[in-house]
Order: sequence, then structure tokens, then C-alpha cells
Amino acid sequence: MPWRDAEADDDLDDDEYPDDDDDDDETIPCPYCRVPVYEAAERCPACGHYLSRVDAPRHSPWWLVLGVLICLGLTQQWVFWWWWLSPR
Ligand SMILES: [Zn+2]
Repeated sequence: MPWRDAEADDDLDDDEYPDDDDDDDETIPCPYCRVPVYEAAERCPACGHYLSRVDAPRHSPWWLVLGVLICLGLTQQWVFWWWWLSPR
């Protein structure tokens, strides 16, 4: 029965999809309903709340870190010069 062999091959092909490979799909629990959603998702598919910028990511984007560092450096310089130039 050759047709059954073809169907078996199709089933084998369907089983080859990597369903158990969760390494590439990083999920975070939704802060509103605790349903695991994709980290890259903009809104929760379960409750519809937007996830972007609501929950702090585990690693800040480099431009945010750079901006904070620049602000801190400028503030430090400003404080230093204010202290240096202030009359005593
Ligand atoms: Zn949710």
C-alpha cells in the first residue's frame, strides 16, 4: 500500500517541527494576568494590555544606559564647577 507510506511520510514531516525548542522564544509573565507572553510582543494576547515600557526589561537598551551615563557625567561636572566657582 504505497499511499499509506506517503501519509506516514507526511506525518513524519509534521512531527519534525521543533515544538519543544523554547530557547529561541523568550517569554515573560504578563504583569497583569501572569500569562507567559513573548518578550518581543507589544501587547499581551490574553488580556490585551500593552507590555512595552510598562515592565522594566532585564537588560536596558544601550542608548538608555549611554544617556543616563552622559546625564550623570554632566550633572557631576555641573556640581563640581558650581562648587569650584561658588564664593566661600
Ligand atoms: Zn496579560
